[in-house]
Amino acid sequence: MGKITYLKIKARLENVEELKPNPDHSFALKLKCSACGEISDKWHDVNESDKFPGRTGRSEHHYVGKCKMCGRDNTLDIVQGSIASYRNEDSENFKSIISFEGRGLEVVDYQPGDNWCVKVDGSSKIFSDVDLSEKEWVEYDEKIQDSVGVYDLEHLIE
Ligand SMILES: [Zn+2]
Repeated sequence: MGKITYLKIKARLENVEELKPNPDHSFALKLKCSACGEISDKWHDVNESDKFPGRTGRSEHHYVGKCKMCGRDNTLDIVQGSIASYRNEDSENFKSIISFEGRGLEVVDYQPGDNWCVKVDGSSKIFSDVDLSEKEWVEYDEKIQDSVGVYDLEHLIE
C-alpha cells in the first residue's frame, strides 16, 4: 500500500445542488518525493481517464515520474471510486472530493482550474463548463430567476 492523501474542498454554495469535476477534469497537483523531499516546480495534471505504464510495464498509473533529485521512479493513482461531488448540504464545510494513493510521492498542493459541473438546485439546469480558477464562480439561471454561485473556495490536503 502507498500513502493515501485526501483532497478536501470547502465553498459557500448559492442555489447549487451539486458541484463536481467533469469526467475528464484534470486535477492540477504539486507532488513531493517522499525519499528526498524534492517538490517539482511544475503543476502535474492528473486525470482519471489517463493512465501510463510504470517502469516495469506491468502496471499502469495516473501519474508516473522519475524524481530529478534522487532518480527514484514514483507513481500516483486516483483511488478508484473516490471522486465525490460537493453538495448543497456540504456548503461551508470541508469534504473530500478525491483521494490519491502515492508510491514514493505525496500530494502537497492543488489548484482547482476549470472543467467543473454545477447542477442548479430546484432547476434542471446544468452548467458544464464552470471555471473555478479564481476560487469563485457566478451565473444567472432563468428558470429559478436567481443567481447560482460558488464562493470562497478553499482546499486542504490531508
Ligand atoms: Zn527524490
